[in-house]
Amino acid sequence: MAPMASYRRDLAVRASVDQGLLSPTEPVVALLDTTGIRASAAALTSAFAAVTDATVLHAFAVKAAPLVPVLRLLHDAGLGVEVASPGELALARAAGIPPTHTVLDSPAKTPADLRQALALGIAVNADNLQELGRLDALMASAPTASRLGLRVNPQVGAGSIGALSTATATSKFGVALRDDGARDTVVRAFLDRPWLTRLHTHTGSQGVPLALMAEGVAETYALAEEINRKAGRQQIDTIDIGGGLPVNFDSDEETPTYAEYARLLADTAPGLLDGRYRLVTEFGRSLLAKHGTVLARVEYTKTSGGRPIAVTHAGVQLATRTVYAPDSWPLRILAYDAEGRPRAGETTVQDVAGPACFAGDLLATGRALPLLRPGDVVAVPDTGAYYFAHHYAYNTLPRPAVHGFTLGEDGAVAFSTVRRAQTLDELVQEAGGAEADALLR
Ligand SMILES: *Cc1c(COP(=O)(O)O)cnc(C)c1O
Repeated sequence: MAPMASYRRDLAVRASVDQGLLSPTEPVVALLDTTGIRASAAALTSAFAAVTDATVLHAFAVKAAPLVPVLRLLHDAGLGVEVASPGELALARAAGIPPTHTVLDSPAKTPADLRQALALGIAVNADNLQELGRLDALMASAPTASRLGLRVNPQVGAGSIGALSTATATSKFGVALRDDGARDTVVRAFLDRPWLTRLHTHTGSQGVPLALMAEGVAETYALAEEINRKAGRQQIDTIDIGGGLPVNFDSDEETPTYAEYARLLADTAPGLLDGRYRLVTEFGRSLLAKHGTVLARVEYTKTSGGRPIAVTHAGVQLATRTVYAPDSWPLRILAYDAEGRPRAGETTVQDVAGPACFAGDLLATGRALPLLRPGDVVAVPDTGAYYFAHHYAYNTLPRPAVHGFTLGEDGAVAFSTVRRAQTLDELVQEAGGAEADALLR
């Protein structure tokens, strides 16, 4: 599996140069490995099918790769979507994802967001008790096909990245179950609302160990059992276990796997999988990260204070987290020559910089790589989630094109444009170009 991914990537880099997708005038592009995405979707589906006969909706967290063709590809592979804003819902609808395969989460849904969701019949997980109050009013006013749930925070603790840990004692998400009296309040909220049939939890993303994720799910399952016991019926019929499988950014190995996590869930909360509950999952990063690669040309090379530096066209606009929090989000850098052939041989410790005008715009510091030369290509793998699809408009740098690729039988690479590059005209429009006189009036 892993060697295949790097083989496909090498061919795609070469073909990007050959076919002119990457060029002196278009010095940065992003690639998506369609075959790899399909393989991850299949691995997710089969991992859960191996541990349960229950119906499982795998709802891709749109946040991780908000690109309409990606959503349609995943839906074609049998997945649904998890959306957390009107914008993400609009993307899901543009991709043709049916309401039955759409779940709305968000800590700040407006009354209009809730009304639209219920009118469409998409599933909604309320974040808090005030939101349940809004749902009460809507439920009283019109019938809906929406399946409704409540997000809880099992407060099992943090992973290694604070900003991505959602199950801490003071997380902003969900109803904090271990707070004084909260559990009883939640149970009562369910008993008072026969239409509230789901529990939702999402224990965190990158940096949260599998055991902690499973513990959060197990706590949520235990609460479902308690509510159903007190209701005297199977009121909660669906448990949404969120996403958060971490991704390995160190190599092409895909670890941990969905299969490991599914087996751990089977050990930690066997009753969850015995068929009484339908399941929803919301994986994002783990479905896409390994299948995206940024390619950037090296524009110049120099030395500064004795340290060689390659100035490339990929920096903070594409790898925002890495540039601002390099210790939490290190990325690999792969070196290719100007024709897109892998560079091998002796390495030199060097910095790989981006194009933005601030000193910290570095993709990698002190990295041992073949000494980069102007015109070389650097590839930044593992950027399919939360990187190039999450453009940061510093220095008015444009969003680069994104191309999907597949390999033919003969090894020929076929590209298909997922998103074209942003034009200068579009940049001007987004910067108030149509209102140039606004501040003179
Ligand atoms: C971000 C998020 C996800 C996806 O997390 P990943 O780490 O990308 O798998 C799923 N559910 C909710 C509620 C989220 O906020």
